Amino acid sequence: MFARVVRVVIVALSVLAISLVPAPARADEPVVIPDACTAVHPYDAAQSMAALQSGIEANWGFTLTGKYWADETYRPIVAVIWHTLDAISCTPYLDALHAKAGVLGLYATSIGGWVAGDYGLTRADTVSLDFPQLLTNYQTDPGHVSRLFVHEMTHAYSRDRGTNPAYWADFSALYAKNGRFGSYGGSSSETFSEVVGYFVARCAANNPYTPSEAAYYDFVKAEVFGGKEFGPALGQPLSCEPSANPPGAYASASAAVQAAIQDREAAAAEIAANGAEIYGYESLSTSGASDSD
Ligand SMILES: [Zn+2]
Repeated sequence: MFARVVRVVIVALSVLAISLVPAPARADEPVVIPDACTAVHPYDAAQSMAALQSGIEANWGFTLTGKYWADETYRPIVAVIWHTLDAISCTPYLDALHAKAGVLGLYATSIGGWVAGDYGLTRADTVSLDFPQLLTNYQTDPGHVSRLFVHEMTHAYSRDRGTNPAYWADFSALYAKNGRFGSYGGSSSETFSEVVGYFVARCAANNPYTPSEAAYYDFVKAEVFGGKEFGPALGQPLSCEPSANPPGAYASASAAVQAAIQDREAAAAEIAANGAEIYGYESLSTSGASDSD
């Protein structure tokens, strides 16, 4: 009798446990973030877009504006952003970010041109993300969405660089020695956003992190993410979820997207090289901290 009661309780608890396990991501939402944290708030594909929006605000302390957050079309982008925030949530990154930038605004918009995101340009003290463009990028490189999102957030993270805090002094010394990281960025601020963005988005295409970039990798690991890393050690085989898109489904879009990325990066590099004097971007920010992708 006792054993039977125990069995019934165990079965009941098992059913409860199974019902509490969130639905796995759908096949069209590949996990693109190697998880540094045991998922604290696992992504639940059964949640409505409105629930995901309020969940991001409640779980990680952001204010979300713009109509695209609630638009089912952009579920893959919102899912990547959710996965990214959950993956970094056990590191010191978000607390440090909020200490510098307060409740950061995330604005889902369409910026135009080739810029997929910015901090403080489209809207002061806010990370603006070009959702239509990111959805296009997502088709061939879902990791790019995570990289871009972290890159822009990291401009808010480094807004205190003018006071030369310890992490910035250390990074500046590294940058003076090692210079640019990958093909994009011609300033210490852009390079900082890039070394942090690719550190999280290990599976982004053309990730420059190889053992030859160990200095940047070790710096970001120790001084930004509290020793946590997103995937195996540098140089070890990295297993990324393959895109769920059937081969060839986006063959025609792929060439156009690749061309667009190249054009966009060329334009962004030009903006970064020319700086605010020509484009006047700084005048759009009240914080003095602004950058385009
Ligand atoms: Zn940037």
